[in-house]
Amino acid sequence: MSEKLAQIRNFCIIAHIDHGKSTLADRLLELTGTVEKRDMKEQILDSMDIERERGITIKLTPVRMKYTAKDGEEYILNLIDTPGHVDFTYEVSRSLAAVEGAVLLVDATQGIQAQTLANLYLALDQNLNIIPVANKMDLASADPVQIKNEIKSLLGCTDEEIILASGKTGKNVEQILERVVRDVHPPRGDASKPLKSLIFDSVYDEYKGVIAYVRVVDGTVKKGDKVKFASISLESEVLEVGFFHPSKLVPSDILSAGEIGYIVTGVKELGSCRVGDTIAGLEVTEFLPGYKEVKPFVFAGIFCQDGTDFLQLRQAIEKLKLNDAALYFETENNSALGFGFRCGFLGMLHLDIVQERLEREYGLNLSITVPSVGYHIYLRNKPEEYILVKSSQDFPDPSVIDKVLEPIMTVDIVTPSDYIGPVMQLCAEKRGSYISTEYLDQKRAILHYKISLSSIILDFYDRLKSVSSGYASLNYQFADYAPAKVVKLDILIAQKRIDSLSSLIYEDEAYSVGKKMVEKLKEILPRQMFEIKIQAALGGKVIASERISAMKKDVTAKLYGGDITRRMKLLEKQKKGKKKMKLMGMGTVEIPPEAFIEVFKR
Ligand code: GDP
Ligand code: MG
Repeated sequence: MSEKLAQIRNFCIIAHIDHGKSTLADRLLELTGTVEKRDMKEQILDSMDIERERGITIKLTPVRMKYTAKDGEEYILNLIDTPGHVDFTYEVSRSLAAVEGAVLLVDATQGIQAQTLANLYLALDQNLNIIPVANKMDLASADPVQIKNEIKSLLGCTDEEIILASGKTGKNVEQILERVVRDVHPPRGDASKPLKSLIFDSVYDEYKGVIAYVRVVDGTVKKGDKVKFASISLESEVLEVGFFHPSKLVPSDILSAGEIGYIVTGVKELGSCRVGDTIAGLEVTEFLPGYKEVKPFVFAGIFCQDGTDFLQLRQAIEKLKLNDAALYFETENNSALGFGFRCGFLGMLHLDIVQERLEREYGLNLSITVPSVGYHIYLRNKPEEYILVKSSQDFPDPSVIDKVLEPIMTVDIVTPSDYIGPVMQLCAEKRGSYISTEYLDQKRAILHYKISLSSIILDFYDRLKSVSSGYASLNYQFADYAPAKVVKLDILIAQKRIDSLSSLIYEDEAYSVGKKMVEKLKEILPRQMFEIKIQAALGGKVIASERISAMKKDVTAKLYGGDITRRMKLLEKQKKGKKKMKLMGMGTVEIPPEAFIEVFKR
């Protein structure tokens, strides 16, 4: 092993959300003198506003630190901060593939949670050296014996191996660094071989263009080198390489095997620089394993509340996409909400982040339709390939459909044993299929299930929190696509089908969902001078129906002090700027745009 490699340690911190990862990372920066204490802003590594506010980590921000250990040697420590959330499992797995060790951080007052486990399993898959740390030991409710027992039963380690620390006070944080130096393997790799480097993240920079964050596995890379992006066989020239400082990129002459840093190439689009892909020398033909193309699973329509902002919305989404390769969009026209975009997301948090950024950074007022999953639909005349159906409008006529597949997730729920009953009941209600139960100790269990993504995205998380008094935690991961009996439920108002009110639902829930939708519409729709029929239908068959009776003239007159023209004027005013629906020979039923969102909520 070269002397240089022996001085490098690459590691990350894995934890459930809120267990203190970012806070600990800040202490590490301070302790190593990477950032002076007086320059410390709150949580350096979470640089986006939304991240700070929500206290979650969305974007990975790697950092290089120098640390003189107790053995007198100076080490280079590369820390990658990983997002803890389920939507970004693949990104986390690639970050873990870029390092040799992981600090497993567990909030001592919360104990092991679903994402602790999920991330730990990913780390074990990569054969990482694990350093267990019980965090928040400054809090009175942290019980060292209990938390040690939990961690021991999970890892099979000894009491002495578990560091009791506090990222807040800095207690035993130095011990964590010492253990990183001692227990994490120095990187292996051969600098004399042709270049192979793993992209674990990429960002778009206005000046530099696309920047690949890489772990160099073999070989070296420097300015002027010709390289290729393996998965798309795109060749490019290296314009700059360098290392990560918390607030800037620091150019260097060369990156060598074992090191973590960045590569700037002439590539213009983030989509060409994909997480998990290999940047390799031109002569290389075998690439790094584990590359996957990330695909959106959850789809929703994004519209401006004032339809005139469409062009602004387009610009904003295009700009966001520059820095978010996983975001998918295409234009969509909704009869009530106007022109907007059908967007695809990795999951619900991803959707939330996109919505929030559009509203906050671009000052847009948005309506987001209730999200649905993407279905794979096989047609009878083309059984070998599927079409991806992202909205009910694209659902083919049932007579030509061979089969419909939906995304199924493997779900892990960590729950106090007292709540196993209600949690299982919830999973059953959500059509989950039970796999197994494991016990972390007498008091806490992990339930393993398979549940369709469509059942999860509606309200599963909130329901889980409510049936477990907030104690259960959830992690899920895509498993596969499986056949589902899905039908298109249509809504007719005054005998006319309203496309934007159609939805894709399970066949055996059609009756109850249809009934609820028409009841809700009855509440939402304003009364008219004529009777309105509201119907839910499958194919042409009506399965639920409600009526809104006509407004009686004298009642109207009474309401408005007998002045019917005043009422008409008022109505006229309200119509301004709003969209209306012309209905054949029936007058006009005005559907408030909110109705198109409210009616899908269950
Ligand atoms: P992350 O989601 O894992 O990055 O967690 P954060 O670092 O954002 O911390 C989540 C919350 O826990 C914040 O309110 C922190 O101030 C708090 N926190 C983090 N570490 C400690 C600690 O060691 N002790 C105490 N008392 N609070 C902590
Ligand atoms: Mg964080």
